Amino acid sequence: MKCWHCNTELRWVGDHDVDELSSNRYIILSCLECPECKSWVEVYYPNHEHEDYKEHDDDTDQNNT
Ligand SMILES: [Zn+2]
Repeated sequence: MKCWHCNTELRWVGDHDVDELSSNRYIILSCLECPECKSWVEVYYPNHEHEDYKEHDDDTDQNNT
């Protein structure tokens, strides 16, 4: 994965469990750093089991206009 700003290959710093911090919306936070310009990149991997990502429609009518 390349840096957004200088296109240098990012250095992986570490992964963190964020399921509790994000109310189960995301499960993994991956942190990467650019060794060139020192940009910091965080990637939140979504929890596809979370109700917001379910494909099927519940009987909640939130977008009925
Ligand atoms: Zn960079």
